[in-house]
Amino acid sequence: MTDYDVVVIGAGIHGAGAAQAAAAKGLSVLVIERREAAGVETSRASSKLIHGGLRYLETFQVRLVYECLREQRNLLRNAPHLVRRSDFYIPVYRQSQRSAWWVYLGLCCYQLLAGGALRDIERVPESRWGSLGLQEQDLTAVFRYSDAQTDDQALTRAVLESAVSLGAEVRFNVAPARIEYIENYTLTFPDGSAVRCRALVNAAGPWANEVAALGGLPQQDLDWVQGTHIVLRQPAFSGCFYVEAPQDGRAVFVLPWRGLTMVGTTEVVLTQPKASPTQEEINYLLAVYNHYFPKSQCNAGDIEEVFAGVRVLPKDQRQANKRSRETLYATANAGTYIGIYGGKLTSYRATADKVLRMLTPVLRDSMRGNTSTETIALP
Ligand SMILES: Cc1cc2nc3c(=O)[nH]c(=O)nc-3n(C[C@H](O)[C@H](O)[C@H](O)COP(=O)(O)OP(=O)(O)OC[C@H]3O[C@@H](n4cnc5c(N)ncnc54)[C@H](O)[C@@H]3O)c2cc1C
Repeated sequence: MTDYDVVVIGAGIHGAGAAQAAAAKGLSVLVIERREAAGVETSRASSKLIHGGLRYLETFQVRLVYECLREQRNLLRNAPHLVRRSDFYIPVYRQSQRSAWWVYLGLCCYQLLAGGALRDIERVPESRWGSLGLQEQDLTAVFRYSDAQTDDQALTRAVLESAVSLGAEVRFNVAPARIEYIENYTLTFPDGSAVRCRALVNAAGPWANEVAALGGLPQQDLDWVQGTHIVLRQPAFSGCFYVEAPQDGRAVFVLPWRGLTMVGTTEVVLTQPKASPTQEEINYLLAVYNHYFPKSQCNAGDIEEVFAGVRVLPKDQRQANKRSRETLYATANAGTYIGIYGGKLTSYRATADKVLRMLTPVLRDSMRGNTSTETIALP
């Protein structure tokens, strides 16, 4: 039986990040992924934004926004080939739920949290509105600010590659059948083989409770919320648009993606962690797009791709878009087990840092390196 300091279950962004942080500390690490490659589940179905989350300021998630904006700066420095700055436009209409001054106030707070200058927020002059392609009827203001975009799957794979270059091992197409804890963890696979480890990180994303159940480990009370995107065969606009869905006032993005136009996302509470976009979601997103971009109307025949991912959110009576986006952790067995729930692509490194800090008391004697992932350039 092979022994490791840490086994990480799941090769999404959180598993890759935790493996990178652990390997950077000189720990022996094994990542187990049941699929054929890294980043093939939630971490390829996001809105692909590396952002603080402007709208989280409305629910006072200031710490989260600040942390994400700090991680955005790190990623722009460490992975400029994977994360790039983009112009974001927010149009305000006579009927918008958020007034121009409210949007401007939010942007000022956002910019200050990002450590940027207020002069980087622009109130776009009316003479340029026409070039943006937006619906101009009842338009009262357009603001421009800067945020960042990535390729989420490529980012996840780069973080895992970095972990491997630091010594982590990865096994694809395997999933444990049983987890036992008696001083150490023993993970037994369906073929009868097993691995042993001192600490276990459960980074199975929407399936983290299923993995926890294999070893009687603590589970979280959560909701699975599906978010769908559509990619339209419509040449990408030169910027990103942050609009209010006319149907319900929710924030929806219209973004350039591989030369085409991506629109998302929705929020549908599921009973199982299984993403499956519905016709209703597709119609909703098409209607949002056509409402704001009447000069380049699209219909179902213009859809190139539809994809959906599952968010893990704390169980709550509130609407999904009002709930906390903070990462949640479950711990057990004197701090040797950590389950990661929810969180953001943007803040994966901060999450991994927290996981490593939690594991330090039990793995200190095996920690040899002291490299901070904050400065590691991604391949
Ligand atoms: C619609 C949507 C839009 C989003 N947009 C953004 C955004 O723009 N910016 C942002 O910062 N964040 C965004 N997020 C959040 C972000 O995408 C997620 O927080 C993040 O991708 C979750 O990564 P993860 O590693 O926890 O989960 P996953 O990427 O799902 O990885 C979990 C992995 O565990 C594996 N696994 C599961 N069970 C087992 C098992 N038994 N054995 C072995 N392996 C197993 C799975 O195969 C999977 O590969 C968005 C989320 C959604 C759903």
